[in-house]
Amino acid sequence: MSLASVRLEPIPSTTLATEFGTFVLQYHSAGYRQLGGKGYISLSMGDLQKDASLVRLQSACAFAAFRSLECDCGTQLQRALSSIAEEQRGVLIYGLDDEGRGAGIEAKVAGMYVEHALRCSSDEAYQQLGLERDYRTFKDEAAILKRLKIATHIRLIGSEDKCRALEDAGFMVERIHG
Ligand SMILES: [Zn+2]
Repeated sequence: MSLASVRLEPIPSTTLATEFGTFVLQYHSAGYRQLGGKGYISLSMGDLQKDASLVRLQSACAFAAFRSLECDCGTQLQRALSSIAEEQRGVLIYGLDDEGRGAGIEAKVAGMYVEHALRCSSDEAYQQLGLERDYRTFKDEAAILKRLKIATHIRLIGSEDKCRALEDAGFMVERIHG
């Protein structure tokens, strides 16, 4: 590994204009990515130190980029960004390395093969492949939320699993449906 390939300083935050509005764009790494850490992007808006900001934890999904009809995460992502923009406050954290619930894109495509071949659910396909249902712990996301200095009371658009993980990390989570 050359010294030049190791990034020692955090990349400054910038902005990203979207069809929903302009968000603050930040890259976060959990440990140096070159050494096996994961990468995340946060899109935020408004003063997160105020109480009860909207939060959405989203995992990378290549299928959503293709507007696949076989998962609903593209719709969920758009709805979350739209809700944050409507309130002018909140944050979405996007796990760049969490394809296929953290199993990786290769496992996800294999799962899709099994799903279609056996006409089963994605959970059953993972089981057939000897994979866990979900590899994500959301600990990095919790650490990023703290790094963003968000107020402890948050309104989470998301699943029970994510809610529990953030509660375990010390957040007071109000779960809302996106
Ligand atoms: Zn998806």
